[in-house]
Amino acid sequence: MPLSILAVSLACGLLLAACGAAPGPTEPAAGRAATAPAAEVNAELTATLPPAAAATSTATPTAVATPTPTASPTATPSATTTPTATPTPTPTASPTPWPTPDGVTRQARVPILMYHYLSDPPAGADRYRRDLSVSPAQFEQHLAYLQAQGYQPITLYDLLYHLTQGAPLPEKPVILTFDDGYSDNYDNAFPLLQQYGFTAAFFVITEVANQGEAGYMSWDQLRAMHAAGMDIECHARVHEYLPENDDARLVWQVLGCREAIESEIGQRPRFVAYPSGHFDDRVSAFFASDNYWGGITTQQGSLHSSDALFEIKRLRIRRTTTVKELAELLAFEE
Ligand SMILES: [Zn+2]
Repeated sequence: MPLSILAVSLACGLLLAACGAAPGPTEPAAGRAATAPAAEVNAELTATLPPAAAATSTATPTAVATPTPTASPTATPSATTTPTATPTPTPTASPTPWPTPDGVTRQARVPILMYHYLSDPPAGADRYRRDLSVSPAQFEQHLAYLQAQGYQPITLYDLLYHLTQGAPLPEKPVILTFDDGYSDNYDNAFPLLQQYGFTAAFFVITEVANQGEAGYMSWDQLRAMHAAGMDIECHARVHEYLPENDDARLVWQVLGCREAIESEIGQRPRFVAYPSGHFDDRVSAFFASDNYWGGITTQQGSLHSSDALFEIKRLRIRRTTTVKELAELLAFEE
């Protein structure tokens, strides 16, 4: 990681306005996402090391609130390296660092499907919209196929605990993701997911939800999905080319996204899907510094590594993706 925490902290410290309040002149009013006191913001940014250094972060006093791994407790009692037999942690708000990696480098082949619109495209839609639109009937065929083939839906959290700690995965795991937070996800995907007993991660653009923009899911809808077991994760505060954001803007993106989801949903996001898949080491480091656990790309592939948690690959589902093509994607080896 080329970027030190100090740098992030400095960026935040020097640019408190960006961290705590006013965005640039081009942004819409920030809404509740921007209300965290600057001191807290700084504390959150400086409290934790990025994942690469996480194994040594023995001083963090907040280990207790770590979300429980969903894997069964048979996952070996090897809490081995956990340096957290702490003197009782202080009752501060800021929860959990990182699931302490056990030091083992792991790879796992888990297909992560990437959906966008879940509806027929409107008449006159441009080719991007058409390409990104999967009809509900087609989606149901995908779900039925996955079920018939014995695929078991897991979450990004399951994958992360597997890569960092060796928690077991089912034999044929699959992860479903939806980018952008379109309202047809709630209307069409959500009922089908429930019908088939699948879970999915929804990556939302928080400023769009804050503004209640038409065509996108509202916070009420996102809360309902979260209550039904869906994960609500970050697709940045606004959908921009993040590598071109300067440090202040990037802090605004990272913190704004996390704070909005945390306050609206009641659970903070741990994963970012980079808008349009664009990221670099600096972008990843900013998210890692704010205790995100992983970055999801649009690079094609299924093979994930504990060394590259901010470069998680996916398989793009298109309007033209038939069940036969889905089967070919699922067989993707790399
Ligand atoms: Zn997007």
